[in-house]
Amino acid sequence: MSADSSSAAVAHPFDPGCIFCRIIKGEIPCFRVYEDDEFFGFLDISPVTPGHVLLLPKGHYPSVLDMPESVGTALLRGIARLGNATMQTMNAQGFNLLQNTHEAAGQTVFHAHWHIIPRVHGDGFTPWPQQENPGKERMQSIADAIHALSVSD
Ligand code: AMP
Ligand code: ZN
Repeated sequence: MSADSSSAAVAHPFDPGCIFCRIIKGEIPCFRVYEDDEFFGFLDISPVTPGHVLLLPKGHYPSVLDMPESVGTALLRGIARLGNATMQTMNAQGFNLLQNTHEAAGQTVFHAHWHIIPRVHGDGFTPWPQQENPGKERMQSIADAIHALSVSD
């Protein structure tokens, strides 16, 4: 993988029925904000705050769980470049990085993507409410179960 966006084109999986694949290919218009070998960025058509952008792999991977680990470096590079550029453009003081995985979590377009939502102090955008802590015993059993599954191959 190269960090140089001018290097030779890489073949990416493509789904002709996917709106984001078609945007990347130029078949459907978008307000493009970013592009390198592996990732593409454009303005979200229904912004949460002005300057809300989407960052997505050029390859069609339905969710983040389907993406190859090898694009991890390019993903971090895209987040840093696009996050900084978006904050600067929008005079924002921060941004929320949001990623919805599967329908139950609010994913509506099944081509993995990250939302970068610029934020300013006092903008009134309220994240979701937190729930009561379920207690020490339940917390420990949840932690143990997740740990066992996440460290096994
Ligand atoms: P998610 O709910 O995480 O799957 O996010 C999908 C996002 O894609 C939503 O925020 C939509 O507003 C955005 N979206 C859908 N179609 C388009 C489009 N044609 N151009 C730009 N953004 C889009
Ligand atoms: Zn796609």
